[in-house]
Amino acid sequence: MTFRSLDTADLAGKRALVRVDFNVPMDGGQITDDTRLRSALPTIHFLSGKGAKVVLLAHFDRPKGKRVPEMSLKPVAGPLSDLLEQPVAFADDCIGAAAQAVIDGLENGGVALLENIRFHAGEEKNDPAFAAELAKNGDLYVNDAFSAAHRAHASTEGLARLLPAYPGLAMRRELDMLDAALGTPVKPVLGIVGGAKVSTKLDLLNNLVARLDRLAIGGGMANTFLAAQGHPVGSSLCEHDLGDTAREIMAKAAASGCELLLPVDVVVAREVKPGVATRTLALDEVGDGDLILDAGPKTVERLLAAMDASKTLIWNGPLGVFEVPPFDIATVAAAKKAGALAEAGKITAVAGGGDTVSALNHAGVADQMTFVSTAGGAFLEWMEGKTLPGVKALEV
Ligand code: AMP
Repeated sequence: MTFRSLDTADLAGKRALVRVDFNVPMDGGQITDDTRLRSALPTIHFLSGKGAKVVLLAHFDRPKGKRVPEMSLKPVAGPLSDLLEQPVAFADDCIGAAAQAVIDGLENGGVALLENIRFHAGEEKNDPAFAAELAKNGDLYVNDAFSAAHRAHASTEGLARLLPAYPGLAMRRELDMLDAALGTPVKPVLGIVGGAKVSTKLDLLNNLVARLDRLAIGGGMANTFLAAQGHPVGSSLCEHDLGDTAREIMAKAAASGCELLLPVDVVVAREVKPGVATRTLALDEVGDGDLILDAGPKTVERLLAAMDASKTLIWNGPLGVFEVPPFDIATVAAAKKAGALAEAGKITAVAGGGDTVSALNHAGVADQMTFVSTAGGAFLEWMEGKTLPGVKALEV
């Protein structure tokens, strides 16, 4: 994949239309987590520092093509201005006279935020006429919203066809890291896939077994594999109807030379409650009424050894019900090991997906990992081997 570089772009006095992800959690008009604003700062600073007029495009929530006052981006302008330490002008429409007036008023290096692009139905329809209206406000297009790149919308795809298109700094780093983890990784590569269900991660498992040297399967989805091998799983979360699918994935792994690491022991309880009594069992000891809620110590030991033997780790999904201690033990142990190896430069460790980010934060190691993607859907689609329209449109 080849992209244009902002480093060599002519930016002074140019209007840069920058797609960012400002879909922040909000409670009563107050932002409760400003991570997404912070991740856009390097690109905004860079462009502003080069004298560009920075025009920010973003969606917020799901107004479905209508103007919904509660879904305005206006409450974001103040906190963004505080983080940037410079004024942020707000336009109450992303196209037309309102947008143009605000952009015309920008000095070189100035920053404007335009109202929620999803107030227009043309955004999610990727309507060329709407994209053309957006394009009138820019001389170049920068996409810094990897998390929206799995959608072919006007502001993520259509615009890239109308203006010289560049990945922003955060997008670039995300693409570089994803490439280092799965595109052209240093081998051997270990994957960890956990979480609740096999059914939501079929494409992901199929893609990974064809590409990785080893794949550890944990969480509720491991139960489906154990059951498919004839092991008892008691009352655990398990998709019994996916036995054939699980066996196909195991056969595909064997044919592609990917070693599957399934649990060799499990931690069970009778209910999912903090501090409840647990038992560690060998696979065939799981009884009726038992709930498998975490991987056992032998499984963890084998996983940590696999990490020691790998140069690259790609991780999505917890190994147990990590939200309810003590069922966080396996996930935390694996996270700490990954963080320590990454910090010591022994492994490239990339992780992503909503629950994975919470699990790494819970283990206190998110900062030690080589890269943690907060992109959710886009990260998963990329792990599934799909082409992301918002990334493809940036390629030259
Ligand atoms: P996902 O969104 O598919 O990555 O699933 C994440 C969820 O899987 C978390 O909320 C975990 O609590 C849950 N999970 C992990 N292991 C198990 C398990 N053994 N039984 C039930 N749920 C689990």
